[in-house]
Amino acid sequence: MAAPSTQPLMDKLVSLCKRRGFVFQSSEIYGGLGSVWDYGPLGVELKRNVKDRWWRAMVQSRDDIEGLDAAILMHPRVWEASGHVAGFSDPLVDCRTCKARFRADKLADAQCPQKPSKHPGEHSTCDLTEPRQFNLMFKTFIGPVEEAAAVVYLRPETAQGIYVNYLNVLNSSRQKIPFGIAQIGKAFRNEITPGNFIFRTREFEQMEMQFFVKPGTDQEWFERWRTLRMAWYLELGLLQEKLRWHEHGPNELAHYARAAYDIEYEFPFGWQEIEGIHNRTDFDLKRHQESSGKKLEYFEQASGERFVPYIVETSGGADRITLTVLVDAYHEEQVEGETRVVLRFHPLIAPIKAAVLPLVNKDGMPERATALFNDVKKHFSVFYDDSGAIGRRYRRMDEVGTPFCVTVDGQTATDGQVTVRHRDTMLQERIAIEGVLTYLRERL
Ligand code: ATP
Repeated sequence: MAAPSTQPLMDKLVSLCKRRGFVFQSSEIYGGLGSVWDYGPLGVELKRNVKDRWWRAMVQSRDDIEGLDAAILMHPRVWEASGHVAGFSDPLVDCRTCKARFRADKLADAQCPQKPSKHPGEHSTCDLTEPRQFNLMFKTFIGPVEEAAAVVYLRPETAQGIYVNYLNVLNSSRQKIPFGIAQIGKAFRNEITPGNFIFRTREFEQMEMQFFVKPGTDQEWFERWRTLRMAWYLELGLLQEKLRWHEHGPNELAHYARAAYDIEYEFPFGWQEIEGIHNRTDFDLKRHQESSGKKLEYFEQASGERFVPYIVETSGGADRITLTVLVDAYHEEQVEGETRVVLRFHPLIAPIKAAVLPLVNKDGMPERATALFNDVKKHFSVFYDDSGAIGRRYRRMDEVGTPFCVTVDGQTATDGQVTVRHRDTMLQERIAIEGVLTYLRERL
């Protein structure tokens, strides 16, 4: 029997992601670009399915949330008002001996490059500098002249695009407070110590929702959103025991926030945040009101009151959640003396929903399989594979998390049936070829 591989899980996942076209290193032929990744044919489908589920839950299935797609470049004063120009920084230390660079607040998690393995500062030759503040925003210039007046930033979060559009959305929709605005989009952070594959990258996508509420009802809405967001992860099929809450203590809580909880997942490299739920009070709108000189108050007709709304935010990362579903789905098991690798994705996020396979390339099987494939592909993302032994083809589909394989065999010509093989149990059943679409619809 082949021994199970002892390679660390993250190494196996990174190599599977490359081999099967989920995630590639950016600009790989030039040696790669630090902590920037590209999504391949299956990765783009997986991440899109994650985002689609979020959009469906947060926007399309609710009548109190509107969608938005704000630009990445914004007026530089946005980032002054938000506090990012002055305060969106991490403390950085350099080692004069080995030239490595660390986050001063994460030394306990960091590794000194000298051997034996120790934390930075623990070798007698370590020579760390005093911490310096390093702003994480990427700067660029708008227009042809590279001068201070032309500086703009690549947004480090999508939320500010929502705050500055809050009145536009309110005035152009039929919403009344309480209501929310949701957006999915790219964000950029010049992280000092990125890593762990697509967990912490310099370019990533956020899925953020800002819910505007009347002051005094904020904690109630905060609790409601906490419940809804945790439920969303469970519906995604993540293991409950790998999810937990982390409450921000007084030292972690942003000065303006009234309460903040992170949803954490237990990755192979430890418990880490995947989404934050924050009660941001009226801080953001008040800052933009002061800075822009535009009134951002809300007039509540029923009570005749005027107020600046409080904001409850839910903020997750599409790439980090894609990594979460990959880690959670990854399983290895011993089957007939071989290691079977299977990604047990929830069928709704699986990049390929079903594979259509002719058992052999003769006796009318390819023709019947092609007709079935053309029929099903109008409705689902399906894959046609006619090369190699059927067992090998099943394994290839297991490895990319395809929930169903539909095989057309010699008997199909006489009994009009095909074999459906299930990814997780490997059980097989015969169903009518005409019923395949309905069968998939009922299970997807
Ligand atoms: P961390 O403490 O991990 O740096 P954060 O508290 O700065 O995260 P937020 O600013 O609250 O993160 O961002 C919200 C979400 O955006 C995070 O929960 C995460 O899913 C995602 N995110 C933040 N930074 C990155 C990054 N560098 N790469 C990938 N995703 C990120």
